[in-house]
Amino acid sequence: MIKVENLYKYYPMGKEKYPALKNINLSINKGEFVAIIGPSGSGKSTLLNIIGGLDKPSEGKVYVDGQDIFKLNDARISKYRNEKIGFVFQFFYLEPTYTVLENVMLPLIFSKSNSRELKAKEAIEKVGLTHKIGNKGNELSGGERQRVAIARAIVNNPSILLCDEPTGNLDSKTGISIMNLLKALNKEGKTIVLVTHNLEYLSFVDRVIKIKDGELEVN
Ligand code: ADP
Ligand code: ADP
Repeated sequence: MIKVENLYKYYPMGKEKYPALKNINLSINKGEFVAIIGPSGSGKSTLLNIIGGLDKPSEGKVYVDGQDIFKLNDARISKYRNEKIGFVFQFFYLEPTYTVLENVMLPLIFSKSNSRELKAKEAIEKVGLTHKIGNKGNELSGGERQRVAIARAIVNNPSILLCDEPTGNLDSKTGISIMNLLKALNKEGKTIVLVTHNLEYLSFVDRVIKIKDGELEVN
């Protein structure tokens, strides 16, 4: 369902161009849970952001469900991001003074108003935070904040979750609880692409893709 073909990404570096990604080719099947691992600066986030339509490639193509996503105009690429992709990051980006429910409802501005609260409540239930639904963002632990961020990422029922170091800011035990949650969402059918430099969590995934200096490593 995700196919990356001959992908290159160059960043300007003075008068030169710095290649952050070099000739990346990969396929990720529907329902797979894949980890992309590699050292800091190897291009993991760049690749994830391109798959999610947050950043554009310099060359190459990304197909999602057969659609070349960079052939979409700006309005349709936002629609692609909103409907098909959920993003989870290392930092949670919650509104600290909004409640859990309000934070999770934020992406639903385009949904019918009478279904917003129900959808948000369902997502909050899935991440196991119903008992904290009225608490404010700044009243939660790190693990709970990441659960809220995950609820917000799944509230539009995307088929793909792109997770960039979702455990990077959490202690090991809490990290494992977040990985268990991602695994449960994967078992429900979500395709998950996880970027991490933490090898501790690889037992949760179906497949590991290694990247180094912007290139895939063939095992
Ligand atoms: P990783 O996620 O593996 O740590 P990144 O994808 O963040 O790696 O970065 C890959 C390389 O591209 C790094 O050398 C980084 O400094 C560079 N880079 C990332 N984003 C930008 C940017 N917006 N402008 C210039 N260089 C960037
Ligand atoms: P913390 O961030 O406090 O270390 P976790 O991130 O593991 O803890 O869990 C956050 C909260 O959600 C805790 O109060 C925990 O009891 C609760 N919790 C975790 N998993 C579930 C679940 N599957 N169902 C209901 N509640 C859960």
